[in-house]
Amino acid sequence: MINFDKNSQILIVGCGRLGANIANNLSEKDLDVVVVDKNKDSFNKLSKTFSGLYVEGDATDINLLKELEIYKVNTVIVVTDKDNVNILIGQIANCIYNIKNIIIRVYDCEKKCVYDDLGIKTILPSLLSENEVKKIIFGE
Ligand code: AMP
Repeated sequence: MINFDKNSQILIVGCGRLGANIANNLSEKDLDVVVVDKNKDSFNKLSKTFSGLYVEGDATDINLLKELEIYKVNTVIVVTDKDNVNILIGQIANCIYNIKNIIIRVYDCEKKCVYDDLGIKTILPSLLSENEVKKIIFGE
């Protein structure tokens, strides 16, 4: 669990179905959220009460990440629809900016073990779905 305080700054990369919901939830808790997406229409998913900042751009552009003040961020949540983009930004957040809390979404389960070692929390949608289906079938 991450203990956020009023000074916490959170960067969300990808404002799709998952990123927008997370951004809305964190904003409801009065946290300081910046969300970036390369497609400006994605921001339509943000709620009317979203109080954070949203920026259109390609998050693989290191200059954009600097403009977003990634160096001040203590939590980055990377949930674009592309594993390689998510992994790249996770590594930048870890190796260059030493960000404390890094969460990335990765569709390909085989890539997970590498990032566990780096302290990057990896969400694997296919594994989560598999576990839920098993619970329904076997009651596990
Ligand atoms: P979803 O699959 O619904 O969770 O949406 C993924 C989101 O990631 C979409 O809104 C894409 O526009 C966004 N996205 C994909 N690649 C990038 C990127 N390089 N930089 C910023 N946003 C991206």
